[in-house]
Amino acid sequence: MIEANDLSKSYGPIEALRGVSFSVRPGEIVGLLGPNGAGKSTLIKILTGYLQPDRGSAVVDGLDVLTQRLLVQQRIGYLPENTPLYPDLSVQAYLKLMADLRSIPPADQPALISAAVRAAGLQDHLTRPIGQLSKGFRQRVGIAQAILHRPRLLILDEPTIGLDPTQIVEIRGLIRRLAQHSTVLFSTHILPEVEALCDRVIILMNGQVRADARLADLAQSGGDVLLVLQEEAPAAAAALQALPGVAKVRAERDGGRYPAFRLTPRQVNGQAADLGPAVFDLARQRGWPVRELRHERRTLETIFNELATQA
Ligand code: ATP
Repeated sequence: MIEANDLSKSYGPIEALRGVSFSVRPGEIVGLLGPNGAGKSTLIKILTGYLQPDRGSAVVDGLDVLTQRLLVQQRIGYLPENTPLYPDLSVQAYLKLMADLRSIPPADQPALISAAVRAAGLQDHLTRPIGQLSKGFRQRVGIAQAILHRPRLLILDEPTIGLDPTQIVEIRGLIRRLAQHSTVLFSTHILPEVEALCDRVIILMNGQVRADARLADLAQSGGDVLLVLQEEAPAAAAALQALPGVAKVRAERDGGRYPAFRLTPRQVNGQAADLGPAVFDLARQRGWPVRELRHERRTLETIFNELATQA
């Protein structure tokens, strides 16, 4: 559904994107996660045809974003960082205007507008001027305009920014419902948002993709491995440290009693090899009295912080 290939973009001396490549398959819900200034909005503006990259290419739903910009924009639903809403217009009048701007035939408009209104939960606010709505409801209006033409791909830039906790939960629920029928790519700097919604996460830092993985794989890969022994084994720490892919070995006491070694794997782009099998083989060869070998799962927060400190 999306193929981004080596995208780069600078604003004067600021390199906002540096060789960004990734793909999104149909039906996925993908979170684009990154700190402020990572390049998320720049990337989204390129994918939606609102900004030209300096280098690289992007294909959206089989169409080249650079050469088939208008066709791409007809196929996607886009919620920009600051949706241009008209405060004096009622919700209904605004959605009608957007339907006209999208060249939706008048005969099709009532059904499409009412479907978008229902999906966004705006039924009770149709006649209210947009300027009088809460921020959460204004965001829903932005989402309603994005889904008006039933796009197969939704691209949402920070959809929950500035909302209160209740509104955040509501908008997340809405995104989840929309994802049943569309592919969704949304940007955020809020980690729990990604954990709550996504199949996959792409972590962008300093204009580069630092991790691109399914959430389940990311959490399972690369966690520490803890080897707990019944009793001390001479030279175990040095032997463990010499295993390929091991970044660090720390001696501990498990349960305050048993000698243990915590092995941290070396990370490459947020992912790392599973050290378990190599540790198991080594312990067997050396005849160490193994009490337990266990994996520790990493949270997205741990991964994000590891990447941020490496950046
Ligand atoms: P945020 O979460 O704060 O919106 P972001 O990840 O969306 O950040 P971008 O808005 O893409 O990041 O910005 C990436 C970098 O490019 C930042 O350093 C930003 O200051 C810079 N930048 C963005 N737009 C412009 C512009 N029009 N002119 C100059 N610099 C810009």
